[in-house]
Amino acid sequence: MPAGSGGEVPSSADVAVIGAGFTGLSAARTLGKRGATVVVLESNTIGWGASSRNGGMVLTGLKLSPQTLASRYGLDMTRQMYAASLESIDFVEQIVREENIDCNFSRCGHLEVASKQSHFDSYMGAVEFIAREFDHRLEVIPRHKLKEEIGSSLYFGGMIDETSAGANPARYVRGLATAALRAGAAIYENAAVRQIEHTTRGTDQGFTVRTDRGSLFVRDVLVATSGYTTAVTQNLQKKIIPIGSFIITTERLSDSLARELSPRNRMIFDSKHYLHYYRLTPDNRMLFGGRAAFFPETKNTIGRSARILRRDMVEVFPQLRGTPIEYAWGGTLDFCFDTMPHAGVIDGIHFALGYAGHGVALATYLGAKMAERICGSREEIPYATIPFPGAPLGIYNGRPWFLPFAGVYYKALDWIS
Ligand SMILES: Cc1cc2nc3c(=O)[nH]c(=O)nc-3n(C[C@H](O)[C@H](O)[C@H](O)COP(=O)(O)OP(=O)(O)OC[C@H]3O[C@@H](n4cnc5c(N)ncnc54)[C@H](O)[C@@H]3O)c2cc1C
Repeated sequence: MPAGSGGEVPSSADVAVIGAGFTGLSAARTLGKRGATVVVLESNTIGWGASSRNGGMVLTGLKLSPQTLASRYGLDMTRQMYAASLESIDFVEQIVREENIDCNFSRCGHLEVASKQSHFDSYMGAVEFIAREFDHRLEVIPRHKLKEEIGSSLYFGGMIDETSAGANPARYVRGLATAALRAGAAIYENAAVRQIEHTTRGTDQGFTVRTDRGSLFVRDVLVATSGYTTAVTQNLQKKIIPIGSFIITTERLSDSLARELSPRNRMIFDSKHYLHYYRLTPDNRMLFGGRAAFFPETKNTIGRSARILRRDMVEVFPQLRGTPIEYAWGGTLDFCFDTMPHAGVIDGIHFALGYAGHGVALATYLGAKMAERICGSREEIPYATIPFPGAPLGIYNGRPWFLPFAGVYYKALDWIS
């Protein structure tokens, strides 16, 4: 990662961005290019959060199916959201090209595999719906042709979207940080924000932002803290459920075994609620992830998840039974109560979060869109116009006591649906 700034934060700037992941760094890049003075404040180090630890799948669509979105928000809004998801992948590709980011970005497509016959039966309807309403083509792969896509006999068929891409997320976030610095942003690491206070200075309305490296006065604040949102922005924290997601990688595989497992090198995930996602890495490891424990990453949850994921990986790919696991890690995902991304303004503070496992592309995109809005753009952002619900009955203070129940609930859903 590039080095952040030394010393105390400056006494003032136009914008403070909280969090140095995809959202914050993409916003800082855009703000810098628009001529704003911008300071990124990060509790830990650049890219420390989910942005350096994810599966690197740059995916079309959202967590919820287009049909679910259409029944909830209507067709027009769903069209805008779907178009934004496609645009966000083009945007990542454009940044990678413009900023010359070496992150193995490749339009390899994604493959969703059906864990049940009933899931596969729904694929044709989904493909027709997406072609008709969004003019976007996906392909259904019947079970007997699936071996051309994946070296596993566990699944009932698949669905391919060639538009999706893959990247090395840590290299990408490093490149975004370098791009933000090049655009003139300053990044302060180990600068946890402790308090944000509405302040008036002369005729200027703004905020005093108190950090571990001093205080600064800014006109605008953008919160880009996703699954790591704290009580500093309590009204946002109460709307976010931090959920652990975990990844293991094998040792390097031989070329022939790697090609047998994933002949077209797709980004792969299954159709369950408690899903698995997996891919080959550029250095030929199988990277296998999932929500093995719902609680965020600790030494315990990582160790337990690694054992569960290894068992699950061997169920998908018996060929990997004797293959050692070399790395295991975890990170925290940002889910909202409606499983949707959200952007907007709360208590006078801008925010973008809630990507629910689709953050590589959407966080990059929404970070930039919110930056443009801060600079005065009135362009409509679909995820900024939908209602942003909190916890049902309001009984949530940001500590997700219900996660074990949610885990059981989704496992049960996978049994019956
Ligand atoms: C294991 C895993 C796998 C995933 N796989 C995929 C995938 O394949 N594809 C995909 O699209 N998405 C995936 N995701 C989701 C994706 O990584 C996230 O949605 C995305 O990285 C969110 O980026 P962000 O910048 O909003 O937040 P983050 O990258 O999480 O950054 C937030 C930052 O805010 C900082 N922060 C928090 N509070 C403060 C404070 N008070 N002061 C200063 N700094 C603060 C934190 O230290 C953190 O660095 C995955 C996530 C995980 C955990």
